[in-house]
Amino acid sequence: MTGIYVHIPFCKRRCIYCGFYSTVLLDEKSRYVEAVCRELTEYSSLTGDEVSTIYIGGGTPSLLTLDEVRRIREQISRCYRVDEGAEFTMEGNPDDLTAEYLDGLRAIGVNRLSMGVQSFDDARLSFLHRRHTSSQALAAVRNAQTAGFDNISIDLMFGFPGQTLDEWRQDVDTALSLGVQHLSAYSLMYEEGTSLTAMLERGEIEEVADELSLQMYEYLIDAAAAKGYDHYELSNWALPGRQSRHNSSYWQGVPYIGVGAAAHSYDGKDRWSNPENLLSYIKGMESGTLVRDYEHLDPQQRYDEYVMTGLRTNRGVSLCQLRSVFGQKLFDYCMTNAQPHIDAGRMEIVGEQTHQPFLRLTRAGLFVSNDIMSDLMDVEN
Ligand code: SF4
Repeated sequence: MTGIYVHIPFCKRRCIYCGFYSTVLLDEKSRYVEAVCRELTEYSSLTGDEVSTIYIGGGTPSLLTLDEVRRIREQISRCYRVDEGAEFTMEGNPDDLTAEYLDGLRAIGVNRLSMGVQSFDDARLSFLHRRHTSSQALAAVRNAQTAGFDNISIDLMFGFPGQTLDEWRQDVDTALSLGVQHLSAYSLMYEEGTSLTAMLERGEIEEVADELSLQMYEYLIDAAAAKGYDHYELSNWALPGRQSRHNSSYWQGVPYIGVGAAAHSYDGKDRWSNPENLLSYIKGMESGTLVRDYEHLDPQQRYDEYVMTGLRTNRGVSLCQLRSVFGQKLFDYCMTNAQPHIDAGRMEIVGEQTHQPFLRLTRAGLFVSNDIMSDLMDVEN
């Protein structure tokens, strides 16, 4: 076990596109933190490995007070051996990230910040029902830099209804001018059950055309590369040495523990998740009767995940590991289905001269990544 994820499901209000579990029951926050600390204790006997990454995500973790963040961090140290150079990420909403709060996070040991900026356009932020403004996002980045953070990530979204390529270019250019070390960018998704999807179904908004969405993605790829960012995962860019170590572990199939409502854990074979309900989680932890959902992954499911997550990264899928872990049959299946994409220039094999071959997407493959993944994953028993 190398990573611990702590889920903080609180938000002051719901964004219209959000399909994640979160709650506005902020009065339960301190009880929730105690429940999380109790769950951390439960896992302490399950691992002898050092923890090399800690990630507090949400929801909106920056709604925690500094004392609450400290309480969680100290509990992690009480329960696990934490590597001295561990990456400790916390997500935050820009309007919570005051100079005083950021100084406090640094003092607790947070060394990586992930900010949910989404856009630098106030009209879009308001459309999304985000609670911060563009100027608050800019101030939050400046405050974080002044507080000494040298590993800052910002999240952006593209493909808003009515958004033009020029408007997206401005967002990208602004983000790249800030001196942050990491960017994540996702196209706006229409998740089932969200207000955004209801607006689409009522015909109040229109989805952006696929071609425009691809042009937006392509602009970001080129602009980020020109500024020295490595496009190390389909939706993630980092300056050298600033890739998210925590998320990279997920993509490499490394086991992790997730605590909190709706959090998932994975031990390399089985995955389990906590209830997506704040009060069920808290009461379950308080009474020692928490019911988790367990899922045993068979070799075929593990193969599918291995290929899908590997292809999301620019490192690709290790062909040696593919053969040794999943056997010759699945290896052959993968290569047979990859061959037409290799022939068409959408995939390539790199590293053969070092006897460490990796199968990965080429730039042309990035734009049809979902189709390629499904070709390689669609295994028939
Ligand atoms: S702040 Fe994040 S988790 Fe909360 S509603 Fe908005 S998108 Fe969802």
